[in-house]
Amino acid sequence: MIQHCFGFIVFTLAGLLLLGMACSTPKPSKTTILKSAFGELADGTPVELYTLKNANQVEAQITNYGGIIVALKVSDQTGNLADVTLGFDNLEDYLSGHPYFGAIIGRYGNRIGKGRFSLDGLEYTLAQNNNGNHLHGGLRGFDKVVWKAQIIDSEHGQVLQLNYVSQDGEEGYPGNLNVTVTYTLTAENALRIDYQATTDKKTVVNLTNHAYFNLRGTGDILGHQIQINADRFTPVDAGLIPTGELRPVAGTPFDFRQMKVIGEDIHAEDEQIKNGNGYDHNFVLNQTGNELNFAAKVVEPTTGRILEVFTSEPGLQFYTGNFLDGTLTGKNGVVYAHRTGFCLETQHFPDSPNKPEFPSTVLAPGEVYQSTTVYQFSVVEK
Ligand code: BGC
Repeated sequence: MIQHCFGFIVFTLAGLLLLGMACSTPKPSKTTILKSAFGELADGTPVELYTLKNANQVEAQITNYGGIIVALKVSDQTGNLADVTLGFDNLEDYLSGHPYFGAIIGRYGNRIGKGRFSLDGLEYTLAQNNNGNHLHGGLRGFDKVVWKAQIIDSEHGQVLQLNYVSQDGEEGYPGNLNVTVTYTLTAENALRIDYQATTDKKTVVNLTNHAYFNLRGTGDILGHQIQINADRFTPVDAGLIPTGELRPVAGTPFDFRQMKVIGEDIHAEDEQIKNGNGYDHNFVLNQTGNELNFAAKVVEPTTGRILEVFTSEPGLQFYTGNFLDGTLTGKNGVVYAHRTGFCLETQHFPDSPNKPEFPSTVLAPGEVYQSTTVYQFSVVEK
């Protein structure tokens, strides 16, 4: 009897031990980051890929070349994960040239007219890389440099911090600019990007991310529905430089105050639609008084995927991939045809350095540039 009891106790203890071991197999509840090699530049500089994953299996892959979001895998209504961003699966394709897929844009996102501006009576000439204008930081903007990467512990688990020091005179801009961009993948399936910069000479700064989204994961984006929290937008001339006007969206194809299918008015007989070759415009976000304003919501009806954008910035560039023309083949051999992705670039308004009436983009020594954007993913409740 005693022997039986003893055997039973040993057996039970062993079982409990095994159960304990199984339970202690770490299932991370917070975001973890895995670092792997992504290739090297022609001069041998190594480039890495960082895979951020949360407990829901949502995944963001980011390379320190241009801070590019290479992939973003989120669930649909039935729990299927799909990559909802455009890009390539290898470094070589990024090096061969592309329309800023997923990249950090700087020192100045979008256009500066004629690539010129004045600060305190001094005229600065920037690279003119877009029909005589300056676009997205110039010939070698922040999307084409290798950033110093660090994995850091935070309350959300591990976060990815990238740092780049842009030299005084780079692409024509004054001042050494020290930039830090932090990517956080939260437990609630949001990718948060925090931008910070300081300078040692007065300069202009306007940082953003140029992710192209397709919430269906395939095909064009014309059936997605979008709401933009803006009563006004900044009309542009034929070179896509703002005229300076803040025009009400009411009664125009730019009225997204209520959810609207992207394709509904994209072919409208409208001068602004013509200038942009579709939507390629800055929206003046309504301020809600919060630190992070609601900027836009996109719903993809066939998968139920939802993307909501919140930002501290006053503007949002809604770009419908009008220049995609099928010449680039991306991840999994997918051809990026016309309008297979849309961008929601949080920003100060284009050409602000030449438009004193727009919110200022000037950064002076002693000041800290700070900007935050949250891309929140969810699904339509069934
Ligand atoms: C601009 C477009 C440009 C695109 C580059 C957008 O931010 O507004 O005009 O063609 O970036 O792919």
